[in-house]
Amino acid sequence: MPKQILNHWLTSPESSDQMPLFFMGHGSPMNGIADNVFSRQWAALGQQLPQPKAVLCVSAHWLTRGTQVTAMEVPPTIHDFGGFPEALYQVQYPAPGEPVLAAATAELLAPATVGLDHEWGLDHGAWSVIRQMFPKADIPVIQLSLDYYREPRYHYELARQLSALRRRGVLILGSGNIVHNLRMVAWDKLDKPAFGYDWALEVDARIKALIETGDHTPLIDYRQLGEAGRLAIPTPDHYLPLLYILGLVESDEPITFFNDEAVGGSITMTSVQVG
Ligand code: ZN
Repeated sequence: MPKQILNHWLTSPESSDQMPLFFMGHGSPMNGIADNVFSRQWAALGQQLPQPKAVLCVSAHWLTRGTQVTAMEVPPTIHDFGGFPEALYQVQYPAPGEPVLAAATAELLAPATVGLDHEWGLDHGAWSVIRQMFPKADIPVIQLSLDYYREPRYHYELARQLSALRRRGVLILGSGNIVHNLRMVAWDKLDKPAFGYDWALEVDARIKALIETGDHTPLIDYRQLGEAGRLAIPTPDHYLPLLYILGLVESDEPITFFNDEAVGGSITMTSVQVG
């Protein structure tokens, strides 16, 4: 594709407003169809925000070798989970893709080689949140994958290259969970709001404090958070989307937390708005 065609996302004048950034704790896929405190907050944000021109989502559920960006015109809704009620498998979120933005994203991330993907679509990390925010499915959505073979700092640094998109109406959204240990979920207590193990609450509070003070180095080096940290973040998948958002924070941007509750003992829904 010739450059002059693909780059209106990069060459168009910057709009005056910089879009805020979000890290969304997504939790259970059921939040995608539930009416609860978390989904209501997503819906409220969707109504309050200036209408984005597109959404770029970094989801915990797309792990690849090398980085990919979805580049199809019509991204399929992926039901990447098992054992849930039939209603969840029936969900379709027919937001269009935006191949031109995908190409611009790949260009911005150079010299990293970013593949233009035509196989993926929208996984539940993306659609469970975005369909609650934008139920009309009229805003284009692209997903950026997590290169699972890279160190945390790589993700943090890579994200910084996307900053130009914020000033062109692109809502950048990381979707994961700060504390996420599925093996230790207290399944019998899932319905009890705000139940968290001590180590989960401790790590969640520590991470919030570091985000608030802008002290990103220990957040990138999260594997140094001790035994509680190893329990809270046993694998990087749900944590890494947070590093994309932190990598994009500019000085003096306001930080707000919401949905900061634990569920099932070992998951926190803690979410972050920047700007
Ligand atoms: Zn998840």
